[in-house]
Amino acid sequence: MFFDRFTRRVEIDATLACQTALRIGTGKVAGDIAASDLPVLKDGRGEPLVPGASLKGAIRSALEAVLRGIPEDPSASKAWACDPFLDPCVDPREEDRSVDQMRLAERAVWQRERVKAACRACQTFGTAGLASHVVFQDARPRGRARVERRDGVAIDRDLGRVSGGMKYDFEVLAAGAELSFSVAVDSAAPWQEGLLVLGLDLLDQGFIRIGGATSRGLGRVALQGARVRLLDIGRLRAGQGPTELTWDEFRQASLAAWAREIDAAHEAAEERAC
Ligand SMILES: [Zn+2]
Repeated sequence: MFFDRFTRRVEIDATLACQTALRIGTGKVAGDIAASDLPVLKDGRGEPLVPGASLKGAIRSALEAVLRGIPEDPSASKAWACDPFLDPCVDPREEDRSVDQMRLAERAVWQRERVKAACRACQTFGTAGLASHVVFQDARPRGRARVERRDGVAIDRDLGRVSGGMKYDFEVLAAGAELSFSVAVDSAAPWQEGLLVLGLDLLDQGFIRIGGATSRGLGRVALQGARVRLLDIGRLRAGQGPTELTWDEFRQASLAAWAREIDAAHEAAEERAC
């Protein structure tokens, strides 16, 4: 990952308190008959974990839907959020260009052009050739987490009925588990920090669920005890280290910046239309 100019870094640390059981699956361990059909994902020491990529995926896809729900600007050349698979906002083939061999100034121009072409979701969370401003750490249980085994019944999706009495079992992290949560935002615009905060609010309110079997009600978490550390170029210039902000203070300022950004985009569209 690179950004040609460091402006600020925000680190948010919190606890994800599992309100329901949580299912982060992996494939069946080959040859292990005693193992669950669908065990939970564990690290090398056998401790369950929720990969940062899963957290990012759940939050990003919900925010893409929010972005697409914002009234479309008819004169804008780009959507608020593209369809990364069917209609990506930036050409993924260009990723092959050997950015490493460019000079810093040339690279900065190339990056700026690419950012300008990208939708808001890709600008914030990255896409081919565009680094993400937001990096989620893997979430790990604080203390011992209980893993429970659940029975499932295989459903034939076409017929909507039980498929030949096929039973399977799957593992979940039990409700009540507390997971470490950490996300960093690097050199992002204030509205991008606001977009992330919006995602964290939706997570805390249960509109975003994480892991599998969310349609069975799993994956509801609450965000607790959030703390914010900020390091910006002003502090670095003064030879100072990071400072702490309260979650409320940071949350309100970021959400206000996000709302201002949307208003400004709509005003600009109206002016162009005149
Ligand atoms: Zn995009």
